[in-house]
Amino acid sequence: MADLDGAVSNCFACPRLVSWREEVARTKRAAFREQHYWGRPVPGFGTPDARIGILGLAPAAHGGNRTGRIFTGDRSGDVLFAALHRAGLANQRTSVAADDGLTLRDTRIFAAVRCAPPDNKPTPAERDTCAPWLHREVGLIRPTLRVVVALGAFAWAAWWPVLRDVYGVRPPSPRPVFGHGAHWSGTAAPELLGCYHVSQQNTFTGRLTPLMLDDVFARAKQLAGVD
Ligand code: SF4
Repeated sequence: MADLDGAVSNCFACPRLVSWREEVARTKRAAFREQHYWGRPVPGFGTPDARIGILGLAPAAHGGNRTGRIFTGDRSGDVLFAALHRAGLANQRTSVAADDGLTLRDTRIFAAVRCAPPDNKPTPAERDTCAPWLHREVGLIRPTLRVVVALGAFAWAAWWPVLRDVYGVRPPSPRPVFGHGAHWSGTAAPELLGCYHVSQQNTFTGRLTPLMLDDVFARAKQLAGVD
């Protein structure tokens, strides 16, 4: 896993995203002017023998792209890690920097696209170019992985090619529709749970509440056999 994390950190396959991640790292947000930005692809984070996977969209420009760790240093991460801590899957409720001592239990977090995209919107070509990184990562944790929580419709859609490439399973047709609490179960592959993305757009408006997140992670733990 360490080799994979190192390799993805040195990927330059998408010209638009390489340019954007580096520009953001150069220009910075005023509040972080004194900080050094990571400005590179953001690897997955968590245990390599995870039973629960959490699949996000892509790193945030001033979150993961700044700190070098997924969902770290932004409001989305604040919500996600607080929920993981309540669920007993994280040792602390905050995630502010790559060296802040955060560890996960039975859980690994990864993104469908590993570089911060402008407006949080990767193109279909960028999604497809980045897919092999996700597939390789899932391939490594395949022996233990039991459940994947897809944060948002983009992540939900990104999961189906994993079935084919990693598990040799034909994706369902038609594809199950994404929704909060949606559940897909197949043979020889992890179960898939849908969860609204932990974006500010959802959490500030109350579309996604802490209680809703608690329910999703309780279900994920139950399906994965995690105490
Ligand atoms: S998005 Fe993925 S494939 Fe594209 S440059 Fe970043 S790591 Fe590489």
